[in-house]
Amino acid sequence: MNPLAIGNSQSEHRLRLSWPDGREQLLDHAELRRQCPCSQCRAFRLRGSAPLVDDRVRVIELNQQGYGLQLVFSDGHQRGIYPWQYLAQLTP
Ligand SMILES: [Zn+2]
Repeated sequence: MNPLAIGNSQSEHRLRLSWPDGREQLLDHAELRRQCPCSQCRAFRLRGSAPLVDDRVRVIELNQQGYGLQLVFSDGHQRGIYPWQYLAQLTP
């Protein structure tokens, strides 16, 4: 399931996804950074250490891939490609 629309608000520092079932999802930029699905961040979380992410971290670029969204963060991290299904199950 792909979102119908994707918005990125720098002022609210949130990503807005509109899903075909009518659901609107708002995801905080810093929270998205903490939930980064790249292998590096996953390994970090598996070791039980939550990555230290500053609340001021922002999503500065979105790149749509076929199966999800690559997010580029203001702290330079850009390895994470967030599959649509993964984004859909994140809670704000
Ligand atoms: Zn990552």
